[in-house]
Order: sequence, then structure tokens, then C-alpha cells
Amino acid sequence: MTCSEAEADVRRLNKLCQLLAALSHAGTLEEVYRVALTSLLDATEADRAAILLFDDDGVVRFKSSRGLSDEYQAAVAGHSPWPQGTRNAQPLVVPDVLLDENLSRYRGALEREEIRGLVFVPLALDAGVFGNLVLYFGEPHECTAGELEISQAIATHIALATQHKRAELACARSDHRLQAIMDNSAALIFFKDVQGRYLLVNRRFEEVFHVTKTDVLGRTDHDIFPAEMADRFQANDRAVLAAGAPLTLEEHAPHDNRIHAYVSKRFPLEEPDGTVAGVCGITTDISEQLKNEAASQRLAAIVESSEDAIIGKDRNGVITSWNKGAERIFGYTASEVIGRPVSILAEPDRLNEMLEILSRILQGHHVEPYEARRRRKDGRIIDVALSVSPVRDATGQIVGASKIARDITDRKLAEQERAALLTREQEARRTAELLNRVGPRLAAQLDLEKLVQEVADITTALVGAECGGFSYGVVKERGESSLLYALGFPMPGNTQAFAPTFHGKGVVRCEDVTLDPRYGKNPPHHGMPRGDLRVRSYLAAPVIVRSGEMLGGLFFGHSAPGKFSETHEAILTGIAAQAAIAMDNARLFEQAQWAQRELTRSNEELRRANRDLEVVAFSASHDLQEPLRTIALSGQLIERKWGRQLHGDDATFLNNINSAAKRMSGLIEDLLAYARATKYEAGEEPVVDAGRILAEVLESLRGLIQEAGAIVTAGELPTVTIHESRLAQLFQNLISNAIKYRNKLEVPRVYITADKRDGWCVFSVVDNGIGMEPECAKQIFRLFHRLHGRDEYPGSGIGLAICQRVVEHYGGRIWLEQSAPGRGSTFCFSVPLGPSVA
Ligand code: ADP
Repeated sequence: MTCSEAEADVRRLNKLCQLLAALSHAGTLEEVYRVALTSLLDATEADRAAILLFDDDGVVRFKSSRGLSDEYQAAVAGHSPWPQGTRNAQPLVVPDVLLDENLSRYRGALEREEIRGLVFVPLALDAGVFGNLVLYFGEPHECTAGELEISQAIATHIALATQHKRAELACARSDHRLQAIMDNSAALIFFKDVQGRYLLVNRRFEEVFHVTKTDVLGRTDHDIFPAEMADRFQANDRAVLAAGAPLTLEEHAPHDNRIHAYVSKRFPLEEPDGTVAGVCGITTDISEQLKNEAASQRLAAIVESSEDAIIGKDRNGVITSWNKGAERIFGYTASEVIGRPVSILAEPDRLNEMLEILSRILQGHHVEPYEARRRRKDGRIIDVALSVSPVRDATGQIVGASKIARDITDRKLAEQERAALLTREQEARRTAELLNRVGPRLAAQLDLEKLVQEVADITTALVGAECGGFSYGVVKERGESSLLYALGFPMPGNTQAFAPTFHGKGVVRCEDVTLDPRYGKNPPHHGMPRGDLRVRSYLAAPVIVRSGEMLGGLFFGHSAPGKFSETHEAILTGIAAQAAIAMDNARLFEQAQWAQRELTRSNEELRRANRDLEVVAFSASHDLQEPLRTIALSGQLIERKWGRQLHGDDATFLNNINSAAKRMSGLIEDLLAYARATKYEAGEEPVVDAGRILAEVLESLRGLIQEAGAIVTAGELPTVTIHESRLAQLFQNLISNAIKYRNKLEVPRVYITADKRDGWCVFSVVDNGIGMEPECAKQIFRLFHRLHGRDEYPGSGIGLAICQRVVEHYGGRIWLEQSAPGRGSTFCFSVPLGPSVA
């Protein structure tokens, strides 16, 4: 080796060392290429250089070049002396491109680029050629062995560095991809080495534990988490390492203010050589899932425990779910119906109804809750309240329908009952109103015969009968009643069917009398009434008056069967009751009229008798007074002429004649007064001031009062409706009696008062006289009745009788209020009060 050759070797060796140093710092492939080209140009005579590599599509392309135009690169791209993968490829030297036939097609491009010499050095590894280095010379160039050698050495390093860098990049890419995949996972992923140091965590890990990768990587659980949690995590890791196989663990960890539940899959991560590199964990937060599961379990429990039937069906109306409520309401168990069409619940003749509802739901229409009838397993039809709604999948597509059914049979029955009650109540009210209108009409009719006819007519119209009548009077043994109002009425026989009415026991309503077995069977009429009209519907009611006496029966008929309803029965019952009252009234009215007539007649007789009495008394007293006056006058004349000569018995006889005539005259006068007590002046009774009348009477009695030394006092007296002379007669009689029957031991005192009671004035005349036994109270008012002898107290026994006659004429009365022997008496009498003065 020459000295210059040795220098050249050293220089190349230096270049190689520089290349290796540069390559070791190269971060990217581009840097590797750049370093390679610099080394090539430094180590050879070449003035330009390039690196071409096969791409994945098998075409060789420039990756880096020095001193080459883009046009040239484009023109020669794809050219390689060796196909990809050629093994044992050797450098190819082209000393003069113009002489090489293989390059003739690139000659133009080579000329334009002023390239005359070329050297191709293969870039190859175990898998053969994957590219090449090209050295360019402006002049024809014979390559030296040294140049080739260094080029090859550079090519070998470049090949290795390229491959290494590529692998490194692939690795980094795959790490990046792995990280991206992990970061986009909803699971929490980590990898720890066997010492428990985190080598890898994903974004979810960072989010959940609020840490960053830099906080975590290279650190252990104890560096990151509270001791208790770290201990638990590490214990799990040890368990995985000890098992040498994957483990599934459930873990709970607190974060974000609540306990989260996790399912963690942990497995030992093995190196390609089988050694364990660490523990990998993939942890999923199942808190939400558990919550959802719990919620759906709760929902399922609610559905199961619901009293209502909750039924799911798919788009074809096939039952997909069936709760306990549905079992109870429809009688099928879940296993009996799931998979069967929901139409098994439809009423046989209404199969389409369900399908229509389902199709509306499937079309997205809202279906309002509705009521329908459904068929149970046992065939019974029930009323249900339904609400149907669509069931959607996660994408919102309608996949079926859910139906909630409630058994409302009881409610429906109650509603029907209520409606029936309401109808009945309305009917009852209508009936009552009807009867209220009929009542006064009947009550106004006081003619019994007309009343009976009216009752028959009104009722016939109200119950819609074709004929009607009232049987009145006694029911004969064989059944026909004695008298029947309403002509042409086919009266039913008194058979068992009508016995209650005929015997006053109650209403009979007969749907079809011809079918009633209780009705007579014997010919000729078979219990049917005579007549052309064949009555089939009958309605009959007895009319019973207050006293319990049965007046008769109301009978109504129709030639069609079933014509009379319960309402008609009620109407008839009401009318029968009102008819009974009206008839009772009519009868009473008749009786009252008779009594009135009787009273008028007897009053007339009484008046006549009174008149007769007056006439008799008047004429009697007149006729009697005449001879009596003669006797009295004769007696007086005898006394005047012979009085002094008469002695002894003669004088007594004459005296007797005179006093008897006098007494007789008084008696006749009293009798006349009695007879005239009710004879009054014509016209209305006058209103008189009782006080004034009393004063006048006392004035007329002044002599008597003074003689007896009596004290007469009075309270305030009102005005009364009575003739003056009569009131004076009353005061006169009672006051003179009070003084006449005085107690000899005391000063006679008489006290007159008046008391107003209900339109009457009750006068009281109180004395302190001799009194009498209370038992005598009645007798003393009789004519001529006296309690004492005439010698003791003179009198005729007519005074009180006159007083009674007077007050009774005014409608009042007179009585002895109280009396006892030696304790005085109180006489009272009542007369009508005068009009009150405001
Ligand atoms: P006369 O007084 O003319 O006998 P009356 O008809 O006035 O007839 O009275 C009937 C009887 O009632 C009297 O006889 C007397 O016995 C009794 N009598 C009436 N007024 C009183 C009186 N104030 N006190 C006691 N007895 C009386």
C-alpha cells in the first residue's frame, strides 16, 4: 500500500466514523438520507448523489438527492438496475452513459442534466434490494476500487440505519395508534411493570383519577393514590401475577363524590420470549349500568306488581310481555299467551278494532285512552279502560306497542246501576209531578159519580191503557162488582190472579192474563171477561179510604201483552191513593152538606119555636096581666073601703091577695123578659162602651146599693159588640144578685173587671156574699131554679136563665167561676170584643 493509498483509507475510515456518528444522531429518515449523501459526496469524486427506495407499490422513487433537477428526477424515476428484493446485488458502474445501451432511453435526460458517469450501489438487507444509492459524475468516470468500497460501506450503514429508523418509526406509529385506541376507549386502561410502576395509562384513567400521564408514568400506586386504595390495587396485581392468568375483579372506588363500581379485567402481559412484563388492566365503570339495571329491575317490579294488566306486543300484534295483572284480569298465564296474537283477547265480532288501534300506533298517531270490551280466557266478556302507547328501540323506531288495561267491569256495573237508579228516580219524580197535578183536579171534584168517571179517564190516559174502569160497590161472591163505571170495559173475573185487588190487598200487574195459570180455566169464558175486546195486559188497584174501607177497584187493560210497566204501577198506586182521598172528601162533602141542611132546618125550627114562645109569652103575659090587674085593683079597693074594719084572718086574707097579685105580676114580667131575651132590633150588633153601660146600671141601682150600704167598684172595661140593653140586663142581674145574696155580717162589696181573651171579653162580677156549694154551679142557670126560700131571699129564679139566654145568643157563655158557702161568688160571662182602637 502506498502512502497516498493509506491516507485515502484513513480518510475513508474517518468518513465512515463521521457517518456512523451522524447516523446515531439522526432523528428522522430524512436526516439519515441527508447524512448518507453528505458522506457519499465527501468520500468519492462524485459531484452529485441520490438515494432511491422502493415504495410499497414496488416503484423506486427519489427519497433524497443532491444537485439533481426535478425534471431529471421525474424523468428517471422508477429506474433501478435491480428489481426489488434482488439478493447479492453488486454495485454497477457506468463510466460513460453515452456508451451504455441500457441507459439509451434516459440519454436525453442524462444529457440535459450533464451527467456522463454513474455508479449504482444497491441498498440491500436480508430481504434483498430495497433501494439504491446513485453517484453522478459530470465527466466520464472510471470508479476506483476505494470509491466503490466506501460507497458500499456507506450503503450498508445506510441500509441498516434506514431499516432501523423505519422499524423505529413503525414502532412509534404503532405506539401512537395504541395510545389513540386506548384513549378513545370508555374503559380505564393501564399497564404496570412487575415492580408496579405505571408504564401506560389511557385518557379515561387520567379523567377518572384526575391525573396526567406525566404524573403517573414511572410511578407506583402508592405514589399516586391514598394508601388504602393503593394497597388494594397492588394486592389485585399480585393476585394476577400469582395466578399467571387473567382475573376478573369487581372493585369499588370513590371519586367525584360517590362510590363507583368497576369490573376490572387484569392479565399478566408477557414479552415475546414468555417472560412477564407486568400487569395490564382494563377497567369498566359499571355504576351507570348497575343504576340502569336497578332502575329497570325496579321498573320490572312495578310492572309485575301493578294491579293493571300491562301487555307488550310487537309490530304484528304478537304478545311479547304479560304481567301478573294481565294474568289476573284476563285469566291467561304469561307462558300461555306470549307469542300469540293479542287478538285472542278481542270480542269475537270485534277482531279488527285492535288491529286498527295498533296500525294507528305504528303510524305514529297518538291514541287517546279509551274503553272497550275484552274476552277473558274463560270466555267472560269484561269492560276495560285501555291506554296504548308506542314502544321504540334505541334508534327511535316504533317496534311495537304497550297496552295498560284496567278492569272496569265493577265500575261499569255501578254506572249502569246508577243510571238505572237515576232513570227510576226521574220516573218517580215525573210520576210524583203527574200525581201532584192530578191530585188537585180530583180533589176539586166533589161529585162522587163524576169523580169516579174522571179517575177512570185520567188513569186510562196516563198509563196508556186502551180501556179502563172503576168497579164500585160490593164484590159479589162470583166476582162481578155491583156497579162499573166506564162503558164497555171487560171486567176481569174475581179469580186468584185478581184476588188481591178485589179484596183490597194490593195492585195487580199482569203482563199477559191469558198466560197466567191462576186465571180461571173454566168454560165458557175461561176467566176472561165477556166482550169483544180481548184484554191481555191488565193493571188493577184497590181504592181504600182512610178508615180502611174498600171503595172499589181501578181496572185498566190493553189488547197487547206487557203494556204496563213498574212506572205505570206506581202511577196507578198514586192515583188510587188520591182517588181514595178525593172520594173520601166527596163522601164527607156529601155528609157535610146533609148535616148543613139538617142544621139549617133545625135552626129554622128553633127560630120558629122561639117566635112561638115569644108570641105565647107576650100574649100570655098580656092576657094574664089583665085579670091580675083586676084582682090587684079589686084588692086595693077592698082594702081602701074596708081595710080598717077588717081584722084577724080577714085582714090577712086580703093582704095575701094583694101580695100574691104583686108577686104574680113580677113573675109574669120576668117571664116576658126571658121570652124577649133573644128578640133584638134589626141591623148589626152595635159596639158599646161597657164602662158607660156599667155606670148607667149602677145609677139605676143606686137605691138598692145605698139601702144595702154596698160598695161597688170596677176595673177598666173595654168596648164590646153587644146591644146596650142586653149588656145592661147582664150587669143588672149579676150586680143585684151580688147585693141580694149578701153576707149580713160584712159590708157588701162588689167588684167588676174585664179580661180580653182571643177576641172575647170575659167580665167577672165578684162579691163577698153568702156563696154556695160549687156543685150548684150548673143548676142555678136553669129556669125557676133557686137555692133559697122566697121568704129568705125574694126572687123568681129567672134572672140567671135570662143572662144565659142573652150571652148564648151572642155566641158567648156564662158560668160560676168560683163560690163557696159564706166565701162569696164570682160569676163570669163572655161576649165578643169590639174592634180594637189603635
Ligand atoms: P132569683 O135571684 O130571682 O132567685 P136567679 O136566677 O137570679 O133567681 O138566681 C138563682 C139562684 O141562684 C138564686 O135563687 C140564688 O140561690 C142563687 N144566686 C144567684 N146569685 C147569687 C149570689 N150572688 N150569691 C149567692 N147565691 C146566688
